[in-house]
Amino acid sequence: MGNEWDAIVVGAGPNGLTAAAVLARAGRSVLVVESADTIGGGTRTDEAFGTGIRRDVCAAVHPTGFSSPAFAELGVSERVEWCVPDVSFAHAFSAADGLGVYRDPAALEGELGGDAAAWRRTVGWDVEVAHDVLGMPGLPRRPLSMAGFGPLALAPLDAFTRSAFRDERVRTTFAAVAAHAGRPTRSAASTAPGLLLGLLAAPGWPVAAGGSQSIADALAAIVRENGGAIETGSYITDFDELPAARQYFFDVSPRALTAIMGDRLPSRYRRRLDGFTYGGGVCKVDFLLREPIPWTGRGAAALGATATFHIARDRAQIRATEDAVAAGRLPERPWVLGGEPTRVDRSRAPAGTHLAWAYCHVPAGCEADVSDLIVAEIERCAPGFSDLIAERTVMTAAAHARYNPNCVGGDINCGAASLRQLLARPVPSLRPHETPVPGVYLCSSAAAPGGGVHGMSGYRAAKTALERADARRR
Ligand SMILES: Cc1cc2nc3c(=O)[nH]c(=O)nc-3n(C[C@H](O)[C@H](O)[C@H](O)COP(=O)(O)OP(=O)(O)OC[C@H]3O[C@@H](n4cnc5c(N)ncnc54)[C@H](O)[C@@H]3O)c2cc1C
Repeated sequence: MGNEWDAIVVGAGPNGLTAAAVLARAGRSVLVVESADTIGGGTRTDEAFGTGIRRDVCAAVHPTGFSSPAFAELGVSERVEWCVPDVSFAHAFSAADGLGVYRDPAALEGELGGDAAAWRRTVGWDVEVAHDVLGMPGLPRRPLSMAGFGPLALAPLDAFTRSAFRDERVRTTFAAVAAHAGRPTRSAASTAPGLLLGLLAAPGWPVAAGGSQSIADALAAIVRENGGAIETGSYITDFDELPAARQYFFDVSPRALTAIMGDRLPSRYRRRLDGFTYGGGVCKVDFLLREPIPWTGRGAAALGATATFHIARDRAQIRATEDAVAAGRLPERPWVLGGEPTRVDRSRAPAGTHLAWAYCHVPAGCEADVSDLIVAEIERCAPGFSDLIAERTVMTAAAHARYNPNCVGGDINCGAASLRQLLARPVPSLRPHETPVPGVYLCSSAAAPGGGVHGMSGYRAAKTALERADARRR
């Protein structure tokens, strides 16, 4: 039987669509097959609060997308209107106190006070370092910087914050950024996500105008303009369901890949994928508000000028949350990660309405609705918040897993950001996207470089395949 397609991509998340866009632009005939009725995976935007009100179901803020080498090469950034706030993210400690991480170096220095130089030295790396991190395990373009960045990134978060900064407020602000990845703060390499996201505060943490869906739509347009096709509503459970093709790219979890490929994968590789670990889940609340969140106190200006906020009284609250989740317990008073997209993107909701979202980490597979705990934390720092809620929707960790099979147990990054899986994702290899089956690639965030809407896993899987084909032709 002849091949119907050069490449089939299973999964239309940002990584699958990026792989498809790279392949289509290289002249390959590409079919993308997606299980959901709409494309985008973690970048979907819906109208849960009514027509014309654009809510991001999952990913909302895009530090890695804005600085993604893959999106730059594909011209995604020219098709997406980025709304870049002056304050990349802000931290609320209480109703009296907060701290903003401004893009402007002088404004940032003013916020950080005596820790400004330490922040510059440890977090203020050039954006090229982020490109090198997103390109791991490839050769770094900035080896000297990476030699400085690497050892800091490998440190446990508790030890790093204690030794790097003197002010407990700065320590807590950094700890919250690093804790996006949901790792216990004493674990090796729990600093790494903070350094990557922290250095990306300088270029910016934007939202996409109209919602994150516009990123997926931009990628899909590139696929279609280059002759590719996208089919939705097809959940693939077995390799035999797929049309014949030269190459296959799976934007799926390692668990799904082993189920789909079955005995076609060598048993040694399957055992390795079986050892791949997933992180905890999140419980997310979306709010339709009558007014923006009424931040007060010292951080109010910064919190009112950003699309992303973190809430934790201190590092102990972050540590207790992540320890509880790692032990399979619900945190009693979780630290909270959230955002107000309508602060910077007024196109999403009619005048007089505002959007906010917030989530906290919970154990994998957890069915519990902890939205009251999240509301209580926001209320603690912004008194009167509860009275402004017109509507709210809740997605538990278990609901996230049902919504998107890549969110195994509600893990938003499709794989824990453990030391092992930072260095070898999904398995130790210089070409981590390649499977032992010729022409079969894993291109989801379960493969290097990991979670986030940057398309780099799809980009690198596609580039590896194109390089292989070139090498065969020579
Ligand atoms: C609640 C939440 C908040 C987040 N916030 C942010 C954020 O603010 N910023 C950020 O950068 N990242 C964020 N993320 C993470 C980000 O969304 C993911 O890292 C990113 O979407 C991963 O892209 P992907 O293409 O690998 O997988 P996904 O986006 O998960 O897409 C995978 C796609 O494959 C499809 N699929 C899976 N299995 C099959 C199958 N067997 N057959 C057919 N189709 C299949 C799925 O339906 C899905 O559409 C968040 C994620 C969640 C869940």
